[in-house]
Amino acid sequence: MKEETTKQDRREFMKSAAVVGGVAIAPGVLLHAVSQAKTADEAVTDKVRWGMLIDTTKCANGCTDCVDACVEEHGLQGHDRPKTDPQWIRKVELRNKLTKKEHSLPMLCQHCEFPPCADVCPTGASFKRADGIVLVDKHICIGCRYCMMACPYKARSFVHEALEDQKPYSPRGKGTVESCTLCVHRVDNGEQPACVEACNKEHKAMTFGDLNDPNSDIAKKVKEVSSTALRDDLELNPSVRYHGI
Ligand code: SF4
Ligand code: SF4
Repeated sequence: MKEETTKQDRREFMKSAAVVGGVAIAPGVLLHAVSQAKTADEAVTDKVRWGMLIDTTKCANGCTDCVDACVEEHGLQGHDRPKTDPQWIRKVELRNKLTKKEHSLPMLCQHCEFPPCADVCPTGASFKRADGIVLVDKHICIGCRYCMMACPYKARSFVHEALEDQKPYSPRGKGTVESCTLCVHRVDNGEQPACVEACNKEHKAMTFGDLNDPNSDIAKKVKEVSSTALRDDLELNPSVRYHGI
């Protein structure tokens, strides 16, 4: 009960003022925006489920535009030690042993509907927002790293060093766990995640939007093309899906 109350408090803290999501163009007529992102004054609600569809047939081998954009957006610089740069999104090259077909795909937090990272968290720091975005509350994360072990996608990392020059909209903290926030600061401001924006300048392999809105690009695409959830067998129902694998 206490844990549920804490989660509710966090949701209240994260959400904006509750208003109806639409623009009046005439009395009684509402023009609803297609949900690629929410407007700044819309409430966080479970009517929305933010998700991402990644078209691996368009994801270029060797391209790191999404990774670079995430590093820049969140200030994920390393500490002069090789291979220690935090990566909330990383490129993975897959090769089918049988057919030899190769796929290049970005791996990030899959924003699971049933996130094991939140299940194992002893303080409730790891939590899922009503709209499906999985986050870590830095203020109550005790750095036990249970969530890192529970995540089957190896999506989380631990901050070992004190940090400088942080981005105010994406706070991080020494001794806490972190992962992709789905660029919640952008989504809550009606913008697309930084990685999606960067990818779509050239490759157009990433589609972001509201899976629950039948008029959104992502909902239309997942209805039209086949897509797969990684480790579907775990039944975590991730919000990130892949086409072409
Ligand atoms: Fe949690 Fe990992 Fe799922 Fe992200 S991918 S919600 S960190 S279990
Ligand atoms: Fe990084 Fe934002 Fe993309 Fe997540 S959604 S991988 S935080 S750029």
